[in-house]
Amino acid sequence: MSILNADLHCHSVVSDGTLTPEVLAARAAANGVDLWALTDHDEIGGQHRALAAAKAQGMRYLTGTEISVTFAGVTVHIVGLGFDPDDAALVQGLSATRGGRGARAMEMAEQLAKVGIHGAYEGALRYVGNPELISRTHFARFLVEVGACRDTPEVFRKYLTEGKPGFVPHRWAQLGDAVRWITEAGGMAIIAHPARYAFTANEEWALFSEFKAHGGRGVEVVTGSHTNAEAIRYAETALEFGLAASRGSDFHSPEESHTDLGKLPLLPGQLTPVWELLADRVR
Ligand code: AMP
Ligand code: MN
Ligand code: MN
Ligand code: MN
Repeated sequence: MSILNADLHCHSVVSDGTLTPEVLAARAAANGVDLWALTDHDEIGGQHRALAAAKAQGMRYLTGTEISVTFAGVTVHIVGLGFDPDDAALVQGLSATRGGRGARAMEMAEQLAKVGIHGAYEGALRYVGNPELISRTHFARFLVEVGACRDTPEVFRKYLTEGKPGFVPHRWAQLGDAVRWITEAGGMAIIAHPARYAFTANEEWALFSEFKAHGGRGVEVVTGSHTNAEAIRYAETALEFGLAASRGSDFHSPEESHTDLGKLPLLPGQLTPVWELLADRVR
């Protein structure tokens, strides 16, 4: 089985990470990553830089993104790997998915102002590397800066999540569209960090079934967002649904991420790694 150190999920300043694609590539290589993918939220603007940086570091590379989807009223993330980064329908679909973020951010700031936190829109913008990609993570950094919370996990416990100040419901892409954009651009669609969603057993079954029916082929089993027990659980789900398995740290920042690039357990042996099915897409 594969002992390749593949890290196929992380974020740069092109979305809500704090490092550039070049600095991420150097960090991944220093941590022993052999095969890398940068998967910015709803954005592939960093792909050409990431590929060049991976090559300069002697790593193999798969193109990547992480698309925000609304399924059964819940935000689900779909990772895409190994697609053509110049595919027009994918570029257009991601652009449409990013589209509502500016207005959403202004509404988030209005809510925060009502609980006494002023200037959050401008404050969050100072952390934004890509004006089309203002996210809750940027607000979280601002709330830590002004002392409203000690760290970003505390922000997400007290603010920005359902039922808390600063949460604005948002409709992202549809599951079938996200899977189709990735697949028709030559890539593979993968359900990101499945343990993070608050689904009932029936809803989760519906997600996996519909995802497969739309042409999705993989699931993240080993990720910085899963405990060992969750990895074991989703290894079984991968086998049950006949999905390939992916592995990625979901690294965002040296200060905020507890799982560093490449520093996570190997995939359980009986699974088919996504990179075996994507061998002809590896650059
Ligand atoms: P958005 O796409 O604007 O809804 O922001 C989602 C991002 O917020 C995720 O990709 C994470 O980076 C971050 N995030 C969400 N929930 C948490 C949490 N509980 N703790 C830390 N970061 C979180
Ligand atoms: Mn993020
Ligand atoms: Mn995610
Ligand atoms: Mn992510």
